[in-house]
Amino acid sequence: MRLLVVEDEKRIAELVRAALGRAGFVVDTVGTAADAVAGLALATYDAVILDLGLPDGDGLGVLAEIRRLGDSTPVLVLTARDAVEDRVLGLNTGADDYLIKPFDMSELVARTKALLRRPGQALGVVLEAGNVILDTIGRDVRVAGTVVPLPRRELAVLEHLMRRLGRVVPKSVLEDKLYGIDDELESNAIPVHVSHLRKKLIDAGATPEIHTVRGVGYLLTEKAR
Ligand code: CA
Repeated sequence: MRLLVVEDEKRIAELVRAALGRAGFVVDTVGTAADAVAGLALATYDAVILDLGLPDGDGLGVLAEIRRLGDSTPVLVLTARDAVEDRVLGLNTGADDYLIKPFDMSELVARTKALLRRPGQALGVVLEAGNVILDTIGRDVRVAGTVVPLPRRELAVLEHLMRRLGRVVPKSVLEDKLYGIDDELESNAIPVHVSHLRKKLIDAGATPEIHTVRGVGYLLTEKAR
């Protein structure tokens, strides 16, 4: 899953990015309200971590703007201001949760996962295809009940293929979902991840198979019994 972190303090932004990255998320960071609004218009994020004190405006303005545009992406607000009025104002503006600075990174990760687990989100938590089960929050994969360790990008490829079981996922969509705006992307990155993933699934005795649709992308299908 891909997250947008809006935080102008570089040190905090880096800590947040690292903590969420270790938890298996793809993270983009921006430092201004303008970049946040632009980023949200360009890419699809599963959640936003939003600092309120930004150099070019208030994070609540960003929140009001994206909600006005009909964007219902879950938003976790970060604020140094622990005034009750700010919290109430934020929740009225459409924030889903609050975290007061300073906060523990483990708390941030837990709250972010909780946001993604909220009912009403179009996000399945546990995906199933044949004998493969993928827990999108716990970030683990089981084949016939046995955990198969996967690097986070292979796991992300599998997640997207499972979400569109039996339908083609374009390679460009995987690139968009797997890589942040600052990542260097080699042209063969996706085919390499898919090839490693395919081999691991076969070795583990998975019943679904990954097919390559030349020039387009990939799809996961269940083997005929
Ligand atoms: Ca700030």
